[in-house]
Order: sequence, then structure tokens, then C-alpha cells
Amino acid sequence: MQPGRMQEAAFRAKARRAEGREPMEYLDDLARIASAVRVAAAAAVDDAGMPASCLAEVAGADGDGLYVLVDRESECCKLLAARKCMALTGADGAFADEGAALSLRGRVEEAALEAVLAFADAPDAGAALRAAGCTDIAAFRLYQAAGELVEHRGGQALRMPVRFGEERMNAGVKARSYIVTDECDGCRACVSKCAEGCIDVSMVPAVIDQERCTRCGNCATACFQEAIIVVK
Ligand code: SF4
Ligand code: SF4
Repeated sequence: MQPGRMQEAAFRAKARRAEGREPMEYLDDLARIASAVRVAAAAAVDDAGMPASCLAEVAGADGDGLYVLVDRESECCKLLAARKCMALTGADGAFADEGAALSLRGRVEEAALEAVLAFADAPDAGAALRAAGCTDIAAFRLYQAAGELVEHRGGQALRMPVRFGEERMNAGVKARSYIVTDECDGCRACVSKCAEGCIDVSMVPAVIDQERCTRCGNCATACFQEAIIVVK
């Protein structure tokens, strides 16, 4: 676990213990997540909140994130590039004895397709897109996300909350920083109170961009869940 991630996890655990609850355990094994579901659907929303979705292939993962392939010509791809947020959902035999279902929301950036295909764990990466008529594949790196992976093994379902990538935005967390804890339910009440526009609710719990946060505290006052705390 990287230092920023350790620091973030420690803050969250401390906040939960202070309220007499056990720290939340998150799955952040990107290789395991990437191999669980290969063919999925990606979705993004436009400025008016209208969603667009498209076929997506999970091509693999490395230390920097999860790599997702989509059709560059799709409306969804254009929104992903513009809004830099992705919802990813898919199931692979999840209703049989063996399989998995994945649901993630998070931040993306475009990645070089050649590099993704060179390391892709899936030897047939891009095959589903090409079979659907796609001739121009775009690759995105999902570098920060939250959601859930459900693995089905021998008739048993194992549900695992997923969260990874906070270290990029929480690199600047230090004493007196404001951070969002697991109590966040994504209600967005804090967003309009932040003059800096630095609260990202594309994933839940929301994430505060520490580089831009001025520590005014307006978000913490607005949060009915009391999910935003100050690091001591
Ligand atoms: S107001 Fe609180 S619960 Fe709502 S999105 Fe912001 S941090 Fe999360
Ligand atoms: S402390 Fe102020 S600047 Fe920082 S996230 Fe909250 S509202 Fe925005």
C-alpha cells in the first residue's frame, strides 16, 4: 500500500473507531478486480445530466489503475473524455455457480491504446468491441473509483466493497485538512457550498482535492451525515 493510501486509510479507520465502529475493509486488488468481469457497460453523463452508455472491455490493470476499452466513435466515449468520470457495470456468469458482478464509479483519463494492449492480461482484448463493429478503440485508465465486486463461488456470494486510487487526490492530506469519511452517501449537499469546486462526488465516499481546498469548512457545515472531518 502506498504512503498516501495508508494515510487515507488510517484517517478513515480513526474516524470510524471514534464512533465505535469497525474500520471498513476495501478491496483494492486491481488485478483481481480487472479479471473478474471482462465485458461490461461504461456510462457517462453530459452537462444536462443525460447519460450515454456503451460496450466496454476491461483489458487489465497495473499500479496506476484499471484499463477500459470503448468505441472511440460512441457518444459515451466523447463524454468520458470530456467529463473524465465513468460508471462501469458488468456481470460474468454472476447468476451461475461461478462468476462475478462489478459496479464501479470513478475518475478516468485517456491512456495510450498500444501500451494497454501490450500489457493487457486478456489475450483477446478488444475482440468484443471489434465483433460489435468497432474499428477505432479508445483506452481509458480508471485511476480512482469506488463500488462493489460480488464473486460467486460454489453457490456462495462474496460481496466486497471496492475503493482504490485515493492517493492521487489525497497526496496533500495533512493536519487540519478536510477529508470525507465512509459516512458519505453521495447526497451532493456539500458540492454547492464549495467555492473552489474541489469536491468530487463521481464516487462515494466523495473525495476532496487537497491541492485546491482552502480549508474554509463550508462543506463540513453543510453535510448532514457529518461525513466530512478535519484531520487532527
Ligand atoms: S454532503 Fe456529506 S454525505 Fe453528502 S456528498 Fe457531501 S460529504 Fe457526502
Ligand atoms: S473546506 Fe472549503 S474549499 Fe475545502 S472542500 Fe470544503 S468547502 Fe471546498
